[in-house]
Amino acid sequence: LGRPPGLSVILVGDDPASAVYVRNKQRTAERIGMRSELLRLPADSTMGDIALEIDRLNADDNVDGILLQLPIPDGLEQQVLVERISPTKDVDGFHPINIGRAMAGEEDAFVPCTPRAVQRILTDYGYELRGKHVVIVGRGFVVGKPLAMLLLRKGGAGGDATVTVAHSRSGDLAAITRTADVIVAAVGRANTITADMVKPGAAVIDVGIVRVPDANAPKGSRLVGDVDYDAVAEVAGAITPVPGGVGPMTVAMLMQNTVTSARQRIASLSTMR
Ligand code: NAP
Repeated sequence: LGRPPGLSVILVGDDPASAVYVRNKQRTAERIGMRSELLRLPADSTMGDIALEIDRLNADDNVDGILLQLPIPDGLEQQVLVERISPTKDVDGFHPINIGRAMAGEEDAFVPCTPRAVQRILTDYGYELRGKHVVIVGRGFVVGKPLAMLLLRKGGAGGDATVTVAHSRSGDLAAITRTADVIVAAVGRANTITADMVKPGAAVIDVGIVRVPDANAPKGSRLVGDVDYDAVAEVAGAITPVPGGVGPMTVAMLMQNTVTSARQRIASLSTMR
């Protein structure tokens, strides 16, 4: 391509948590020499305003990855906008074409970054998932569901697990999680996973991000995960912290998807020459 990979992030409105996430993504992109741009659109943007920006980025050869920071303000149709992003630039992996391709086991499909991060943490730390029981708590579209699909894949590192997905309607959650070799909590509620729910030696991956009041913290609140960290750390074989852990790895996976997209663009251009 003769240029660094390019990532464009669209942020609609002024949700403070989204602004922090976007800043982290941009900082990382800049640190690794990627070209990154932030398009800030006002909260009262119309579907047409956002679609116009997406169309422009789809057509821009300098852009390899387009990310619409979610959630977007109420009243806008998130799915319609996600589907407007070219599947070849959908580095978040939320376009139905990428979901379908990933489900079919196509290795080069973009997979959502947080599930990829969870899988990568486990494989990087030497957890062999083949035949192991992974209990995912949470069936959200962003984490739980795509993660289940990823860990179920046949063959390859980080696949071949036996996966159970639990949610708010699951009966006796503790009985389910106690059978897990690996627990992944993706709920968004503090203390969902307590020590009595964890088999000794199990690995616990905490995806949740929850702001809780804390009179001793400078801002009067702090971030925690879904897991009762101190007590669970006594029982678990391994545990990820919040903040840290899955969050930074998710950003790394976004960078990886963007680099992959740039490589795919080079490959497709060279076949046209
Ligand atoms: P989501 O779509 O709202 O899904 C939450 C899931 O938790 C739902 O399936 C819900 O069940 C389930 N749930 C709620 N209460 C429960 C309970 N008491 N017991 C068992 N399951 C329960 O959320 P998400 O987008 O997947 O995100 C989950 C968390 O991960 C949030 O805290 C989010 O901020 C965080 N997150 C972190 C990162 C990162 O980079 N670290 C990235 C993405 C998300 P139902 O389906 O029955 O309602």
